Amino acid sequence: MEVSKETSPALEVATSFDELGLAAPILAALNEMGYKTPTPIQQQAIPLVLAGRDLMAQAQTGTGKTAAFALPLLQKMVPHANASASPARHPVRALVLTPTRELAIQVHESVVAYNKHLPLRSTVVFGGVDMKAQIADLRNGVEILVATPGRLLDHANSRSVLLSQVQFLVLDEADRMLDMGFLPDLKRILDFLPTQRQTLLFSATFDDNIVGLARSFLQNPLKVEVARRNTSAENVEQLVHKVKEEDKLDALVRVVNSRGIPQVLVFTRTKVCADKVGHRLQKRGIQAAIIHGDKAQVERLAALEGFKQGKVQYLVATDIAARGIDIVELPCVVNYELPYAPEDYVHRIGRTGRAGASGLAVSLVAPDEERLLAGIERFIKRDLNASPLPEIARPQQVHAQASSAEAVPAAPAAAQIPGARVGRRRAEPVCALLLPPVQRAEPAPSAPQA
Ligand code: AMP
Repeated sequence: MEVSKETSPALEVATSFDELGLAAPILAALNEMGYKTPTPIQQQAIPLVLAGRDLMAQAQTGTGKTAAFALPLLQKMVPHANASASPARHPVRALVLTPTRELAIQVHESVVAYNKHLPLRSTVVFGGVDMKAQIADLRNGVEILVATPGRLLDHANSRSVLLSQVQFLVLDEADRMLDMGFLPDLKRILDFLPTQRQTLLFSATFDDNIVGLARSFLQNPLKVEVARRNTSAENVEQLVHKVKEEDKLDALVRVVNSRGIPQVLVFTRTKVCADKVGHRLQKRGIQAAIIHGDKAQVERLAALEGFKQGKVQYLVATDIAARGIDIVELPCVVNYELPYAPEDYVHRIGRTGRAGASGLAVSLVAPDEERLLAGIERFIKRDLNASPLPEIARPQQVHAQASSAEAVPAAPAAAQIPGARVGRRRAEPVCALLLPPVQRAEPAPSAPQA
């Protein structure tokens, strides 16, 4: 099969969800979630999915891609929505495959929220947990199934789920699924699915492997893309401080205070560490919020909102949770722990220094992380020489900053340090969830070649 050279047709860009023709129960859910305007990927993808086309969509997490596929699929399933208790009336119609358990949970949470006012059923299945509860859910019947490939195959092989009525297949973060070696599983899953179906492939990158995958999974797909996040990080100053594990919290606060950094995104490898760092900052009276995969969607949104409004100075996040955030004009990211995968380092530092703004990425490296640092240096083809920690701000400065911060609560305290490197006016919010890229995403100049 050839991948179509067709690109997405010039569209009338819908500026509201209403204009996209979504049903009232879906619009009500979006309204309750505070979604006002469709993001660029939603503007492009939703009409095409509604029109029944297969799609190759180049969009990262953080662009609103989940709603870009979930909303039109829900819309297409509205005629099948029923409140019958019979499992036979709730066959799997939409299957969403994701590479990780965290992403599966996150996608499912979004589906549940968008589906709140419809009687369509959904569930999520992933490995590493007992199958029994999942089997019970599946046997009850679900129209929307979010799954990681391995566990789905276990269920399909043991016939705890039937996939013969799947009308819609979504491959989410397809590049990551291939990186993680899921291609054989994906091919086996294909054997359980009808050939007549609509398939949507979402991927941050489109290399030959993805085009190969598209060839076996999609039919005459259209390609849509939104502007990529800056990951080249050329305008990001990258600093490394060698710090013992037990001194990292002090080092973090010192970096932020001494440089007068108004807001910082702090990365940890694990949820446990994110909790520990966040709570210890809070104990010091610092405005800190935590986001990771175990936090409920509502808590994550509250944390992001606080950060967006400038009320929260430190947002402590794991890689997976942070992938769901698109923050612009972020002055600084700190790697409290280096990631295991060098690619994640590039993704992390790509959160700052966007679109011509200069950014700062600081890594606090403990002795047992030297190996990870060497791996990152090889990956980015650049030495990251360690420098000493900055001087501590004088006590009277810290005091002054605390009292003036009280007078202007929306401005993070550190922004008040005299001579501080502050990138914006105080009253301005420092980030905007999902704002850029705001330019209308152009149809791709050419579809991938077969
Ligand atoms: P995603 O790229 O699908 O992981 O979405 C990233 C985040 O943006 C999630 O927290 C979504 O709830 C949120 N989001 C998606 N679309 C919109 C929208 N149109 N308006 C506001 N927030 C959105």
